[in-house]
Amino acid sequence: MRVAIAGAGLAGLSCAKYLIDGGHTPVVLERRDVLGGKVAAWKDADGDWYETGLHVFFGAYPNMLQLLQELGIADRLQWKEHTMIFNQPTAPGTYSRFDFPDIPAPWNGIVAILRNNDMLTWPEKISFGLGLIPAILKGQSYVEEMDRYSFREWLKKQKVPPRVEREVFIAMSKALNFINPDEISATVLLTALNRFLQEKNGSKMAFLDGSPTERLCQPLVDYITKGGGEVRLQAPVKEFLLDDDGRVRGFLIRGDGGDELLTADAYVSAMPVDPLKLMLPKPWQEMEYFQQLEGLEGVPVINLHLWFDRKLTDIDHLLFSRSPLLSVYADMSNTCREYANPDKSMLELVLAPAADWIGKSDQEIVEATLGELEKLFPQHFGGNNPAKLLKYHVVKTPRSVYKATPGRQQHRPHQTTPIANFYLTGDYTMQRYLASMEGAVLSGKLTSEAINSNLGSA
Ligand SMILES: Cc1cc2nc3c(=O)[nH]c(=O)nc-3n(C[C@H](O)[C@H](O)[C@H](O)COP(=O)(O)OP(=O)(O)OC[C@H]3O[C@@H](n4cnc5c(N)ncnc54)[C@H](O)[C@@H]3O)c2cc1C
Repeated sequence: MRVAIAGAGLAGLSCAKYLIDGGHTPVVLERRDVLGGKVAAWKDADGDWYETGLHVFFGAYPNMLQLLQELGIADRLQWKEHTMIFNQPTAPGTYSRFDFPDIPAPWNGIVAILRNNDMLTWPEKISFGLGLIPAILKGQSYVEEMDRYSFREWLKKQKVPPRVEREVFIAMSKALNFINPDEISATVLLTALNRFLQEKNGSKMAFLDGSPTERLCQPLVDYITKGGGEVRLQAPVKEFLLDDDGRVRGFLIRGDGGDELLTADAYVSAMPVDPLKLMLPKPWQEMEYFQQLEGLEGVPVINLHLWFDRKLTDIDHLLFSRSPLLSVYADMSNTCREYANPDKSMLELVLAPAADWIGKSDQEIVEATLGELEKLFPQHFGGNNPAKLLKYHVVKTPRSVYKATPGRQQHRPHQTTPIANFYLTGDYTMQRYLASMEGAVLSGKLTSEAINSNLGSA
């Protein structure tokens, strides 16, 4: 059966891959001239890559890891030491680490927390541990119930001292959803903590060995094409055309030489939730299922790439900046094989929360970031020979993953819609892995399973 999919992000491509496995023929239509959506990357005139986002893979990503195995590209993940590294604002230029020993979960996580004495005192660790007990004992149902609270409210409810939030969870919250603990749903952080505490390698991190577009999305396209499917770039879906009975009759694709009608046996939106909401046909807008999407909206985020004339650090890992302006960052000249440079650093940094910055010029954003780097690397920016910025790229995403404030879980739709031949996929749809690459891949798989069971595997 032929299945038309709007969107070649990870969800759309993973859906197409698993439809091929089910014996179907997917046609993926991508609006832009680049694959990957929020993992898209571009090469500049010097041949250097720059990306929509600094992307980290976790041990707790079973669906992504399985997909990479199935594509024969699992060796493209460069696994790092099992540790989490934080900058120390009170001691500029130094780091504090949570080192996970090679013992079973949850003991490796507990030992990592207990051994770190820079960030939390013993009474703070104990009160946080006690606060977490209901989440550990009651599991995911308790975690879902806590969607009523922001993480800050949850910490208060569990009588955890506010310093725990400041020291550890501002950084974690910004890394997970680009917002602060007073805004983020408790469910998001508790879900991550639960995975990290339950799985020995859950918090172990890996970087891809090159650009996600070439090293992750292209193999998916090759697989889809080899299986008889198609992926078309610069093919924006302009409208979902309906039959008299409200089912989809076709996707209308905007083209230079006029619009094109594409018909199929089933249709999938793999678009982000914001453009999807704008494209809902009138009759669907009255339906409760589609109305729930009104509760979801993408959060702004900015990704920066700064090339320097020297090495700023030799750390081969993700770093939690603990800066009010920045979230996580990495020296990609150390972490990523294709971006490697033994003499010069390329810092890739996420600026979040970005609501106040998304409208500013690239130059203003870079200047503010350099101000923060002076605090993170005082040894390289002070003195009479400070590090020189050679060039930069700034990528703004005004609406990225859905903003996971309290109460969002009930707005996340199931992949099966009330329209018999129309499905949704995407990181925002309901699946157990938050808005992430893992969530996108899992949602694609769930959508393909729903289609396989409705249309039957060939
Ligand atoms: C700065 C940043 C850092 C991140 N860091 C991490 C990380 O470290 N780890 C992690 O797991 N996740 C991370 N993420 C999240 C991750 O990138 C996303 O959750 C995931 O890539 C979303 O995939 P998706 O397929 O659901 O949506 P998208 O990637 O948004 O794909 C949707 C696609 O639909 C296309 N489209 C839109 N409208 C149309 C139309 N009319 N017709 C045809 N196509 C259309 C878009 O162009 C896009 O290609 C990060 C995201 C950002 C922005």
